[in-house]
Amino acid sequence: MDLFNANLSEVLNRWDLRRFRVVLFDFDGTLSLLREDWPRIMISQMCAELVRHGSREAPPLLYQRVEQAIMGLNGKPTLVQMQWLVDEVQKLSGQAESAQVYRQRYLDELLASVEPRRAAIASGQVSPENWQVPAAGAFLNRLQSSGLKLVLASGSDREAVEYEAGLLQVRSYFADELHAPVQGDPTFSKRGVIERLLQQGFQGSEILGFGDGIVETQEVKRVGGVAIGVASNQENPQQINRWKQQQLLGAGADAIIPCYQ
Ligand SMILES: [Mg+2]
Repeated sequence: MDLFNANLSEVLNRWDLRRFRVVLFDFDGTLSLLREDWPRIMISQMCAELVRHGSREAPPLLYQRVEQAIMGLNGKPTLVQMQWLVDEVQKLSGQAESAQVYRQRYLDELLASVEPRRAAIASGQVSPENWQVPAAGAFLNRLQSSGLKLVLASGSDREAVEYEAGLLQVRSYFADELHAPVQGDPTFSKRGVIERLLQQGFQGSEILGFGDGIVETQEVKRVGGVAIGVASNQENPQQINRWKQQQLLGAGADAIIPCYQ
């Protein structure tokens, strides 16, 4: 059986849920598809900024380099990604904007793409399931019924995560265990969320993680947990997203699924 292109039941056959006490989820790309355009928007803005400051790299190579850097920081607060851009612009012209300015510019464009989706759900035009990673809600329900502690850790801004988790009807599963940077606080980390669990007496090996990013995958593996990569593919939910699959494999994921069906 290929656990790197698996479905949920294959994963649950391999690891009995009863050996875990905590299930840790990322939000964007792992439970929610509302912001699935974020890499394209962030990378395009960064490439444009680097070109504006005199980058001479061939566009496809520049795109690839920015993509690798940004996806390698996926899971950290947005401001950390923007600090990468600041450093790159400084090397070119020495005249970078602040990371806060870049972050706001990015959030404005991202929000413009997310807002119509939010509005369609809020008005009842579109069902929340439409923008969940397929079957995420049903899986959360099952985990909760099994008595597992559910924890959400996202590098996106807390206010947005709160609101969008509510819209997608997954907010209630996490009670007071929704963790995300307040106003982009760059000191927030998924490692910090996991450390707190360990301080509360949970063992690393009792943590089951689901995420589509390198950071959460590495952090769960670092403490001896089981990390399941979620390589969702918006166009075809049953099929794995190859690019994410490669990234998650490299980060040490124990198995990879396209969704929770
Ligand atoms: Mg994510």
